[in-house]
Amino acid sequence: MKRCIAGLLALLLAACSEPQDPPAPDPDIADPELQLPAGEPLVDDFHELRSRWLELERPALTPPEPEPLPEVAETPFPVPEPAEPQDRTPAVAIIIDDVGHNLRQGRRLIALPQPVALAILPQTLAAEQLAREAVAAGRTVLLHQPMENGAGLSIGPGGMYSGMSRERLQAQLRSNLDSLPGVRGVNNHMGSRLTAEREPMDWVMQVLRERGLFFIDSRTTAQTQAAIAAGAAGVPHLSRQVFLDNQRTPEAIGQAFDQALAIARRTGTAVMIGHPYPQTIDYLERRLTEDLPAIEGVQVVSVEELLGRGG
Ligand SMILES: [Zn+2]
Repeated sequence: MKRCIAGLLALLLAACSEPQDPPAPDPDIADPELQLPAGEPLVDDFHELRSRWLELERPALTPPEPEPLPEVAETPFPVPEPAEPQDRTPAVAIIIDDVGHNLRQGRRLIALPQPVALAILPQTLAAEQLAREAVAAGRTVLLHQPMENGAGLSIGPGGMYSGMSRERLQAQLRSNLDSLPGVRGVNNHMGSRLTAEREPMDWVMQVLRERGLFFIDSRTTAQTQAAIAAGAAGVPHLSRQVFLDNQRTPEAIGQAFDQALAIARRTGTAVMIGHPYPQTIDYLERRLTEDLPAIEGVQVVSVEELLGRGG
C-alpha cells in the first residue's frame, strides 16, 4: 500500500513539473555541427539553435522597407476603431516568439505589467496550456508558424516547406491553428526561404483571411513576400522593426528597446520581437513597470490595437 502511494505521488510530481526532456537529434540536419547537444535542458538547446541561425542568417535581418498601405476595408478581422484623433501617443507592440517549451517562462510573460503577445510554437509541451492562460489573462496569442529557412536548420514540428502542395501546406497551417485555443494571428518562425516565395505566402493568407486572423511578418529575409501577400489578400498585417535580443545582454536589449521607442516617436508605431531568454524577461519585468508614456512619450499597446491604428 505504501509503495502504491509513493508511486502515485511520483506520478503526480512528474505531471506537475515542467518539461525538461532534451530533444532527440534532428534527422533533418545533415551537418553534425548543427545537431543539438544531448542532455542539456531543452530551452538552452533551443536558444543555442537560434544563436546558430542568427550567425548564419544575420545578414538577412535588415530593417523593413516602407510598403503601401494594405486594403483592409473588407476584412472580417475585428480591428478596433481607430484611436480618437486627440490620442496619437506613439505606440509600440511587443511580441515574444518561440514560446511553448517552458511553462514557467511563459507564465512570467503573461504576468508582465503591460500587454505582451505570446507567439507560440505548435506541438510544444506547454503550447496549449499557455495559450489558454494567456487568453484568460487578456493577452494576445499568435501561432508562431515554423517556415523553412535558407540555412537548412531544423524548424521543428508543424513546419511548412518550399515545394509543399497548396493542400498540404494549408492543411498543416489549419491543423496548427486548431491546436491553439484563442489564437488571433500568425507570425513566422525562421522562414527566410519560404517567406521569399510569393505563392506559398498567398496560400497562407487565404487561410488567415478565411479565419479572420492577422499576420505579423517577422522579416527574416529582406526578400520577404509575406506582408505583400497579406496586403493583397486583405489580411491585417504589420512588420517587425526591431529584434530585442539578438545580443543577450541587458545593455544591448535596452538599446534595442530604446530604438523601437525612437521609431515609434518618429513614425507613430513600432513592432518589436523578443524571445523568452531569461535576460529578455528580466529586462521587460523591470522596464514595463515604468510610466513609459510620461517618461518616453510612447505607450505599449496590444498587437490588435496597433493594427487598428493602421500600423
Ligand atoms: Zn522563432
